[in-house]
Amino acid sequence: MSQLRAVAAGGLRRSGGRAGPPARQSGKGASPRGGTPAPPPAAHLFRDPAEIEALRGNLLAWYDRCKRELPWRTLVRVGDIGASALIPALLPAVWVSEIMLQQTQVATVIDYYNRWMQKWPTLQALAQASLEEVNELWAGLGYYSRGKRLQEAARKVVSELAGRMPRTAEDLQKLLPGVGRYTAGAIASISYGQATGVVDGNVIRVLCRLRCIGADSSSPAVVDRLWDMANALVDRSRPGDFNQALMELGATVCVPKAPLCGECPVKQHCRAQRRKLFGKPTPVPDVEDCGVGGCPLCPPAAEPWDSSLGVTNFPRKAAKKQPRVARTATCVLERRGCHGAPEYLIVQRPSSGLLAGLWEFPSLPLAQGLQEEKQREALADHLQAWMGWPVVAGDLRFIGEVIHIFSHIHQTYVVYSLPLDGDVTLDPALSPSRWVTAEEFHASAVSTAMKKVL
Ligand code: SF4
Repeated sequence: MSQLRAVAAGGLRRSGGRAGPPARQSGKGASPRGGTPAPPPAAHLFRDPAEIEALRGNLLAWYDRCKRELPWRTLVRVGDIGASALIPALLPAVWVSEIMLQQTQVATVIDYYNRWMQKWPTLQALAQASLEEVNELWAGLGYYSRGKRLQEAARKVVSELAGRMPRTAEDLQKLLPGVGRYTAGAIASISYGQATGVVDGNVIRVLCRLRCIGADSSSPAVVDRLWDMANALVDRSRPGDFNQALMELGATVCVPKAPLCGECPVKQHCRAQRRKLFGKPTPVPDVEDCGVGGCPLCPPAAEPWDSSLGVTNFPRKAAKKQPRVARTATCVLERRGCHGAPEYLIVQRPSSGLLAGLWEFPSLPLAQGLQEEKQREALADHLQAWMGWPVVAGDLRFIGEVIHIFSHIHQTYVVYSLPLDGDVTLDPALSPSRWVTAEEFHASAVSTAMKKVL
């Protein structure tokens, strides 16, 4: 990302990536000295009611004209039809799409969403599904705990809340597992018309640009200010549309690298744009650094406005932590099935932790720096203990390496294969396992990484 650069060790990087909810979901920030935080300088706020009205109107008019046709937008709000009997069918639409969209692109989500809604159109249907079915449908979407918690929450609504979804952001967040502040706000505003704001990665970018907020946008103090701003701006009569419009603007116009400011429906309210146009010094006093010494929302003095970046000076985030590096030896055990087609042995991962409950080829995490020969021996020992008969390290054929990036792990799979003549008897006390054809493998709850391995 050319416009992103770590300004200094431990410094900030400019603009943003994929829209995800901010790390902090709730709570209030404190002033550096503790106690009640001081109100932010006026330059970073929306204080003029007439401007707020104009911004709402401009944004909603643009949304009505330009919004993308997405499957979850074809549904009407529950309140619009006043039919509580439809709640079980309607609510999961927004809920499911919002959970799937966390950390995931819209284009990827659409197919998963359609298949999910076809299979489990109601809360009751989802509550009755098995975790295996959920994992199978979720396979390839990543962040697998999302699907699991979505189903747990559906079960809770059906078994503990008499099938009635909570209707306010506060209750949704309090009562449902996996529903954070952002998702609760989205469901409450879009499905139930509650006038409550939402803050995800797209909204962060838009708001930081609208009000020249250049402090670390993942810091609790800034996140709290952005939530306050989103709650103040949200349109009282069309909160769901307003929130979707703000997110849509961030996703399609106010994008991270090359925002389309000329087409932006709220450009006249945008202080980053004005600062870019007028440069420095500016004829518009309030678009300078806000003039308050040590302002907690301005860019830090050591990392000031860079005119070559224009509006992409905002937002800024603390430099990302480097992902952990991990290596895993994995073995594709293969035999001829009864019709001569190859079959592969897969085992199920533990029910908690990374890729919980998913299926994979027998695998062994490796110590860093292990020589290839030692890797092979360690894997042979692991397979031997697991299968209960001798496995010769030399029989393991090295195939290659597969790299897969998880959000916080840079994972390398060192892939071996081992053809087998007959069946193997596995210790039933160990992980569940089964033989599958290639077709069954792809239909199983396996991760994208394992598909790459095959
Ligand atoms: Fe974003 Fe440009 Fe619109 Fe400002 S004018 S909100 S920077 S697209």
